[in-house]
Amino acid sequence: MSDCIFCRIAAGDIPSACLYEDEHVYAFRDINPQAPVHFLVIPRAHIASMDEISAENSALAAKCLEVIPKIAARLGLSGGYRVISNCGADAGQTVFHLHFHVLAGKSLGERLV
Ligand code: 5GP
Ligand code: ZN
Repeated sequence: MSDCIFCRIAAGDIPSACLYEDEHVYAFRDINPQAPVHFLVIPRAHIASMDEISAENSALAAKCLEVIPKIAARLGLSGGYRVISNCGADAGQTVFHLHFHVLAGKSLGERLV
């Protein structure tokens, strides 16, 4: 989708700090980090949100999850990390292309689940 900012980032049309890429997945640092380490993992294919995950495309979401421990190991996140996917207005989703936030680099506390 040419009007989707994350599709354009995955395509390389908008610059980003890439941490990982393969045929199906693209990972890059969040432009407005909420923790010392904050990156986003997205499928290259446009899926608007968690709400659109189905039996047909769930393998793409799984591929996103698979790369998270790889990146975490490379970044040395031995203390752990938090994975969040905001879905819809009440969750504060602002970019409607499925993405997994990965936050780390400090103690994130026990709240917000
Ligand atoms: P959401 O609120 O939809 O869960 O998260 C969207 C995230 O995308 C936000 O954390 C925001 O900082 C990040 N973001 C929005 N636009 C850009 C961009 O152009 N580049 C990068 N690297 N991150 C972006
Ligand atoms: Zn998109």
